Amino acid sequence: MTRALFIVDVQNDFTEGGALGVTGGAAVAQAITEHLATHASDYDLIIASRDWHNAEGDNGGHFAADPDFVDTWPVHCVAETNGAAYHPALEVSGVTHHVKKGQGKPAYSLFEGQTEDGVTVAAVLRQHGVLSVDVVGIATDYCVRASVLDAIEHGVDVRVLTTMIAGVAAESSHRAIEEMGHAGAEIVED
Ligand SMILES: [Zn+2]
Repeated sequence: MTRALFIVDVQNDFTEGGALGVTGGAAVAQAITEHLATHASDYDLIIASRDWHNAEGDNGGHFAADPDFVDTWPVHCVAETNGAAYHPALEVSGVTHHVKKGQGKPAYSLFEGQTEDGVTVAAVLRQHGVLSVDVVGIATDYCVRASVLDAIEHGVDVRVLTTMIAGVAAESSHRAIEEMGHAGAEIVED
């Protein structure tokens, strides 16, 4: 079975010390690297996304001076800045497709982004006949959730590897995991 790994937004701004750092983000980066050291060959494709916003403007109302941390956020992941870079503990040498999303607009799901060749993730999955996806990354309650729900919509089997995700808030992360499970994702606890 053709299987892919999605590594969602493991970037400096979403890890401790970043503009929108979540607790456990750096540990997620490390855990994914360890997972890849032993399991990279389980995957035909490894697709990593980065939030990649414009420096100018509010990116379609995504940035706000007084953010609500639900629909509006502090400035984060501005293209080409250190905050937008992959966390240094994440080993990206095995990544087959680098996806950028959010240029000038909010984009939570990695399906909203494009590869460096300008191809959508949906097209990449189709081209390679991917039937199964494992999802890891940040944040459980936003970009992981949105990416998982979109993957299910695209008809692939989805597993969420919960030892390699971290969320903005405990309550919304718990709800997101329940929602992903109800939508059809397999929630893998260990
Ligand atoms: Zn963003």
